[in-house]
Amino acid sequence: MLFDPKPKERREDLFDRDEELRRLRLGLSYPVTLLLGIRRSGKSSLIKVLMNEEKDVIWVYLDLRKYEGHAYLTYRHLLGEFERALNSWQESLRRLLQGIRGVSISGPGFEVRLGWGKSKVELGDLFDRLSDIGEREGRKVVIVFDEAQELRKLKGFNILYPLAYAYDNLRLNFVFTGSQIGMVYRFLRLRDPGSPLFGRAMFEVRINPFTREQAVEFLRAGFREVSLSVSEGILEDAYNELGGVPGWLTYYGLNYMQLNDHGEAIRRTLEYAVQLIRQEFENFLRGREEARERYYAIMSLCRFGCRWSDVKRMLMAKEGYEVDDKKVTELLQNLMDASFLIKENDLYKPSDPLIARAF
Ligand code: ADP
Ligand code: MG
Repeated sequence: MLFDPKPKERREDLFDRDEELRRLRLGLSYPVTLLLGIRRSGKSSLIKVLMNEEKDVIWVYLDLRKYEGHAYLTYRHLLGEFERALNSWQESLRRLLQGIRGVSISGPGFEVRLGWGKSKVELGDLFDRLSDIGEREGRKVVIVFDEAQELRKLKGFNILYPLAYAYDNLRLNFVFTGSQIGMVYRFLRLRDPGSPLFGRAMFEVRINPFTREQAVEFLRAGFREVSLSVSEGILEDAYNELGGVPGWLTYYGLNYMQLNDHGEAIRRTLEYAVQLIRQEFENFLRGREEARERYYAIMSLCRFGCRWSDVKRMLMAKEGYEVDDKKVTELLQNLMDASFLIKENDLYKPSDPLIARAF
């Protein structure tokens, strides 16, 4: 069902996205693919549909979104995610993990445990084996880090080294998705000569919010699927109120189905969106507490677009003294890297129109 609020897994539940899906599939022949798009644009859905279609690939899917509210993430958390992913493999494949230092496979169900502490699993060893398994089975092995910008919060462990090792030496493919687009680049440090991944080429797939036409057609198709007839005027109005982010349109469609009331479905969607966006903004502010007021003031100023000079002037007027130019640029850059703002020509504005309502 198109209005199912979970990430889609079946092609028939995914509206459009033929081109993005084709490019993502193409990406599987590159060592690393970046799948980038703002929150709720449909990245997880796209990757899950591809996972379902490419059954011959051995998938290792790590969902890092749950760490968005965490101040940091440890190697142990990361191993926990790998453990979960490997346990979703079929038994015959899991058995091939036997013999890696720190890995135990036990019980009637051959449950994989990745050891911690003294006999901890080294990611490099695990990557070596995954690559061997792929070769031996004659299948591609693809490791997906969904919401990869969370990996930059890893404490005491630099995952870029094993990634660079795999990039250069192994037959593994990686997909990094990211909602906070600039943060993904910051994490990978591709342009930093001191970074292990310096200069490595990556295949990039962008997923954008729906256009007006796509959004209206998505709603039309979703309502048709559940035999509801909804006027064109209502579909247009929904786009005018909500914009083209698939996640909000899905939530609206689901609410409309349940309430049969356009106005109320819009109201609930807006209320839900505002709550979620505020929560995500609070997550962004973690570790940035000293600039909290400034970030809120900028978001509020830039709701409908603002220039760099507007921001500088506003901060100075608010604080009553000179604010460093570099500081203004840095604050705006952080908001852009976290995909709360985007820059179009000289104008900074919310990446999603509903962000304007949250500030
Ligand atoms: P992301 O991973 O980019 O945050 P999700 O894949 O979780 O986005 O999608 C957000 C919501 O929108 C989910 O409810 C999902 O079902 C829905 N959705 C996203 N893209 C589509 C699409 N092309 N067709 C149908 N539903 C979609
Ligand atoms: Mg996702």
